[in-house]
Formats: sequence, structure tokens, C-alpha cells
Amino acid sequence: MDMTKVQARSGKHNLADLEAMREGFDWEEVKKDFSWYKTGKVNAAYEAIDRHAENPDKKNQVALLYSAPEREESVTFEQLSKQSNQTANIFKKYGIQKGDRVFLFMPRSPEFYANFFGILKVGAIAGPLFEAFMEQAVRDRLEDSEATMLITTPELLGRVPVDELPHLQQIVLVGAEELPEDDYIDFDTEIKEASDEFDIEWVDREDGMLIHYTSGSTGKPKGVYHVHNAMIQHYATGKWVIDFKEDDVYWCTADPGWVTGTSYGIFAPWLNGVTNVIRGGRFTPESWYETLDKFNVTIWYTAPTALRKFVSAGDELVKQYDLSSLRHVLSVGEPLNPEVITWALRVFDLRIHDTWWMTETGAMLIVNLPSMEIRPGSMGRPIPGVEAAIVDNEGNELPPNQMGNLAIKKGWPSMMRAIWKNPGKYESYFINGWYVSGDSAYMDEDGYFWFQGRLDDVINTSGERVGPFEVESKLIEHEAVAEAGVIGKPDPERGEIIKAFITLNPGYEASDSLLEEIRQFVKTGLSAHAAPREIEIKDSIPKTRSGKIMRRLLKSWELGLPTGDTSTLEE
Ligand code: ATP
Ligand code: MG
Repeated sequence: MDMTKVQARSGKHNLADLEAMREGFDWEEVKKDFSWYKTGKVNAAYEAIDRHAENPDKKNQVALLYSAPEREESVTFEQLSKQSNQTANIFKKYGIQKGDRVFLFMPRSPEFYANFFGILKVGAIAGPLFEAFMEQAVRDRLEDSEATMLITTPELLGRVPVDELPHLQQIVLVGAEELPEDDYIDFDTEIKEASDEFDIEWVDREDGMLIHYTSGSTGKPKGVYHVHNAMIQHYATGKWVIDFKEDDVYWCTADPGWVTGTSYGIFAPWLNGVTNVIRGGRFTPESWYETLDKFNVTIWYTAPTALRKFVSAGDELVKQYDLSSLRHVLSVGEPLNPEVITWALRVFDLRIHDTWWMTETGAMLIVNLPSMEIRPGSMGRPIPGVEAAIVDNEGNELPPNQMGNLAIKKGWPSMMRAIWKNPGKYESYFINGWYVSGDSAYMDEDGYFWFQGRLDDVINTSGERVGPFEVESKLIEHEAVAEAGVIGKPDPERGEIIKAFITLNPGYEASDSLLEEIRQFVKTGLSAHAAPREIEIKDSIPKTRSGKIMRRLLKSWELGLPTGDTSTLEE
């Protein structure tokens, strides 16, 4: 198989000619699909939920298909609309107003989504926190955002330093058998009494909708502020890139504590009126295959860290499930290793479509559209209406095939509007009209972008610049290697040498000869200068809770340096 050019060949896709759309593209055209374009009344919760609930043909369609080990439930658009009216009434009763920050610290459940939209319906700003956060991570985010209300569960309450957060005035407890003290708001009682009618708070498209904290891969997480206007791009990328049709069953595996879990776990599917699978509980390859099979998922948006685990789990496992309903698979969060694309073509007979974007960008920017030829290892090309380039540190565009800063022309619809309470940080992203991402990449002659690494992660060895990603990708092609994290280690002679940390697949034993074999494998398969001089076997590779390899931690450990902010480190 020629892996350098994988053609779109699935008859199931809508291969609309988005290439042609790039010419003379205008976001104004996309806006016409929203009801506010006609009415002037804006609220993303209305567009995502209530609009469908008011439509006799759509209201009884399942919006949310919830599945967790001990609970299964389906919620229609009409039900979700009413439930979020009820939560909005609770928030209003307790004095929540437009612009207030209301944070959610609870597992994925139907109540999470009802609360989320209730927050938007009163015009407040939602701040979803990942349920596995420990006390320090919760404290930092509630302090920074000055949230006045928190919605949580009795199980998680112990991680909230309630008495040390002066701004936090109210705590709503969901699923409490009995209330610890009477100054908590009991969700289960309130929801029974709350009316399911609510006059939604109409807002401005530039009013706040969400604060998301970044993953913390490169340092202290930043509070990224998004406004209702982002819905334009959530909707459009859902339509073009995720290829939503009204009868799709879609599953985005990300938790709403991360931006993927809101932009593509909430807004994109529901703005497009699609049935959305929400799965609680832990990841195992078996349980995820089971979810795809059981709900006849047609579109699946997931991440390289999970996909690599599927590859390691082997081809025999996947054969035990009927995954024939699946028609489209997408990935985000980390570079997508070519090995994973080869595997998917073999086991699913489907391509995996990589998408690149960040918390700060709010939505996809560089993607593989269904109509595009895929070049494994490349993130693809910018969506219509977005201009991307590789620039130097002064914001000057660099020619093709030169590594530099991946940058986007300022001003796409879902761009963050602030770093919360940190205008200096916000300004620092912009140079010469470009949003500079902090990722390094190059662009080929055909306009495909190739991720190299985080700027800080690029390795300078004997005068050559090596991106850790291509070394990691080559390493995991070796049958013994499950995962790899690659760093530059200071070296008096070479500037830096390449050091790789790997985990082994089941059935492989560590030995000097195996390490040498792996080294030779990279040397002959990639290049001599990119072959790691040192390889160390570990039981696991440190990752953020959103599943990203934390190379800065590998480096700090290796060099005996302070580890910095580890609030998002996976256990
Ligand atoms: P922090 O900003 O706190 O260090 P983070 O950058 O990991 O954390 P996110 O906003 O969740 O936080 O992740 C965005 C980053 O994820 C991008 O800057 C990029 O490095 C990486 N990323 C996302 N998608 C892709 C992709 N398709 N290919 C390569 N890298 C990707
Ligand atoms: Mg970042």
C-alpha cells in the first residue's frame, strides 16, 4: 500500500468539494444557518438544544445516549431542553447572573449536561473541571476564575477546599443521600420543584460562554476564555470535518473537562442535531469496542493515546466486535502516528482523519477533510476561512519545508477572547497579526502541515533539528514498543543527544540486545542522526489527564530539575 497518499475512498462520506469553497470563502454564509441570523437573539444553548426541541420533527430524537457501568439512559432534545430550563431556574433562584462563573466538578452524566446548558441559559460562564482532579488542581482553577457557584457530587466534595475559597458562595450537590450541612443546595430536591419553562437570557455573540483550563503539558494551565460566537466554527467544522448527517450516531471520547469534550462533545454534534453518545467509566480497549458495537456508532472522534492502546491490544480483539456501522474516524490532541493509520486501514478499512487545534483556538483549524488525500504523519490543511503559515520569531512567513512556528492569521470565529485575568499572556500569543501556537511544524509544497513537536521539545543534535514526534512514531513501529517519549538531553559535544523512554508490549523482555535492535530500527528506518543514543524502558510514560505525553517531565526527571506544575498529571 502506498502510505504516502491515502485517497478518500469511502462511499459513505459526503465528499462535498470543500476545496472549491476556499475560494472567496466568507463566514457570513455559515451564519445564515443559525436562528439568531434572523431573530437577532443569541444563545448557544438555544441553538444547540431548544431550537431542535421546538421542531416537531426533531424534538423526540435522542440527543444524549448515556452509558456508564451502572446506568444507561437516553435523553431527547425536548427532555434536555426542559431539564436545562429547570437547572436554569435553580441558578436564577440562587442569584446567578450574566457573566458569573459557575463551575462543574462532576462525572459525565445526564445531569452534567442539563446543568451545563442551564448555566448558559442564565447567561453565566461555565467552567467544567475534569472529575479526576485532586485538591490543588481544583483550588487553583476556582481561585483563578473566582467562581461563585460550584456544582459537584458528595464523592468529589472532599477535594474542594470549601472554606478557603472566598469567592465561592454556593455549592450545589448532585446525588446527595443526605446533605452535610444546610448551606449546600440539594440538586435532587430543587430539580423536582423547578419549573421546566424558562425565559432564556439572550446575550451578545461576544459574551462569555466558557472558561477552559489548558492541559498543562508545557507548564501551568491557562484559563482560556471563550464566547458564544465560537458556535459558528463548532457548527461548521462539525458539518465539514466530522461530516455530520442527521441520522449519525456520534461518539466523542473526550471528557468535557477538556476543550474537545465541549467543542466536539457538546456543541458540534448538537448544533448539527446529531445523536451523541456519552460514556462514563474507565477506558479499556474492550469496553470502548463494546460501546462502538452496542450503539452502532457511525462517527468516532478520539485521541492518539487511546488509538495506540488499541494497536497494542492486537488485531484478534477487534475481530470480536461488529464495528461495521463505523463510517468515519477522527483524532486530536497529539500527533497521529502513521503506524496507527496503517492499523486502522487494516482493521476498520477506514482512514483516521487527524485534526489539529488547541484550547486557545476553540475549534479545529488544520484538518483532514473527508474529501482530502491523507498523508500519514501530516495534520492536514487549514479549514476554509482559516489561513495558516510557518513563521519565524518575528512573524515573517517561511518558505515550504522549513521548520518554524505554526501560526494562524488572527480572527477566526472560535478564537479565545482572553486568558482569564492575564492580558499580558494573551497578548504574547500574537506577533505581527499572527496567532503563534507554540507548536513547531513545517508546511510542504502542497500546503500540508507536518507537526514536529512543542517548540520547547525540538531537539538540536549535532547541528540538526529533530522533532521528537517522528522519532516516537518510528519507535512504536517496532513490534516490541508500545509507547515512546523522546527528549533532548544536554551533551557537551553534540549540543543535545536524543534520549527515548519506551514501554514494551506484552510478551517482550528488556535486554541490551533488544534495545540495540530498536536503536538500529530507527537508524535504518528514519536516519542515523535521529536514532536515540540512549533508550530507557519504563513501566509507563507520564501523561496529562487529557492523554498527552509530558516530555517536560521526562526531561526534568532525567536532569534532576524541579518538575513544575503537575496538577494535570495522570496517576
Ligand atoms: P498547555 O498549553 O497547558 O501546555 P496543552 O497545549 O497540551 O497544554 P491543549 O490546548 O489541550 O493543551 O492542547 C493543545 C496542543 O495539543 C497543541 O498545541 C499541540 O501541541 C497538541 N495537539 C493537538 N492536536 C494535535 C495534532 N493533531 N497533532 C499534533 N499535536 C496536536
Ligand atoms: Mg498549549
